[in-house]
Formats: sequence, C-alpha cells, structure tokens
Amino acid sequence: MLTIALGAYQTFPEDEYGKSSAGWRPGLTDEEVLQAGRGRWRLGSRADRERYALFTAMGIVVLALEIGTITAADPDGRRTIDGMILKPDHPVYAKYVGNPAPVGKSQNPVQYVDSPFDRSLCACGCGADTLSGRNFLAGHDQRAIHDRITKVGGVIPFLHWFDKTWTEAN
Ligand SMILES: [Zn+2]
Repeated sequence: MLTIALGAYQTFPEDEYGKSSAGWRPGLTDEEVLQAGRGRWRLGSRADRERYALFTAMGIVVLALEIGTITAADPDGRRTIDGMILKPDHPVYAKYVGNPAPVGKSQNPVQYVDSPFDRSLCACGCGADTLSGRNFLAGHDQRAIHDRITKVGGVIPFLHWFDKTWTEAN
C-alpha cells in the first residue's frame, strides 16, 4: 500500500499542471484533499503495483484511494495519482481512515506499507489477483502440487523423485 504524507494546506496560483493547492487542513472535503494531495510525487515502479493509496496528515490517515491511474513522470520526474475515493463502507477506509498512519515518520513523504489489502498475485502463477492477501485462489494450491506430480509421471514417481532430491540436498 502506498502512503503519502501531506504537509500544511496552502493555495497558490494554478501551476502548469493545473494544481493550485497542496497539503491538508481540517474541513477539506475528500475531493479537496485529493485535489491537493494527488499531485506531483516522485514515485518509483513499486507504485504501479499498488492497489490503494493512503493520504496522511499529522500522523493520521485522512483519505483512502483505490488507485486508478498514475501519470508518467513529468520533466521533473514527478507523477500524479488518480483513482476512486473510498467511502466508509469500504474495508480499507474502515481499517485506516481516521486512525494513526501505518508508517513511521520519514523525511520522504512517499512510503510503502505491507497490507492485507494489497494486490496479491496467486502463487500458482496463473496471474490472477487473490484479492484477499492470501497466497492462492481457492484450489490453486492443490492444482499447483498436482501439476508437478503429473510432470514427474504420477504420485509414486513423484515420491521417489522427492525422496532422492531431498536426500541429496540434505
Ligand atoms: Zn492460481
């Protein structure tokens, strides 16, 4: 999960990227927080694998976003996030918004944190997102094992192969 720490709210004449505010103050609507917070961050490729972003201010999560798009880097190497603002009925909102930021203080406003809500590709290699933080989609762990047994030629050849390999390795 991507987290971005916002500073104190400020407004300024609209810049070349259409941005005219930054930071956070009490009383902003969610849309205003996103408008002020979405832009121009240094984000590496890890950001492209994240599914959710949390915006924090004064150590508290003030907005949760399901990431839709992240722009390519502008000439300054900065990128802008867009997505869907999460509401109280969403489990990510329920867990994080209004609670202490799940990351420690840092000089870098952009931090990442492991979360059970992260995108998690099924470990069988099928390419599907388990959408649950689990390692496998239901049944795919069994399928992965049986695919390998089939490759070796059945359960008995598999046992022989395993015991031999295990013994040699230990
Ligand atoms: Zn799978």
